[in-house]
Amino acid sequence: MEDCIFCKIINKEIPSAIIYEDEKVIAFNDINPVAPVHVLVIPKIHISCINDINSENSKYIEQVYIAIAEVAKIVKVDEAGYRVINNCGEDGGQVVNHLHFHLLGGKHLGSKLVQE
Ligand code: 5GP
Ligand code: ZN
Repeated sequence: MEDCIFCKIINKEIPSAIIYEDEKVIAFNDINPVAPVHVLVIPKIHISCINDINSENSKYIEQVYIAIAEVAKIVKVDEAGYRVINNCGEDGGQVVNHLHFHLLGGKHLGSKLVQE
């Protein structure tokens, strides 16, 4: 996808602080962190959001979750715990239309899932 900022990060056309990379997944620090640890974990193919996951591309999603566990160890939140968030579509608060998972941690995040 030509105008996708995350595809550009995958292709190294724009810089990012890469935490982890393999054949199918890349993880990098969010440019605007909302917690001490805020890493974005994304598949290296353009999938717009969860609505577009299918049996053809689901191997990437499997690898995303394997990578999330690996990233949690790398950034040392695996034992204390962390939260994984995926925003889908307008009501879900999605801004970048390339499927991505926020890994948040480094502090106690509380139990509230939705802002009031
Ligand atoms: P969304 O709201 O779509 O779930 O989250 C998009 C996230 O991407 C936001 O947390 C935002 O800070 C992050 N982001 C947007 N542009 C860039 C960028 O160019 N580099 C990095 N590292 N993060 C970005
Ligand atoms: Zn993309």
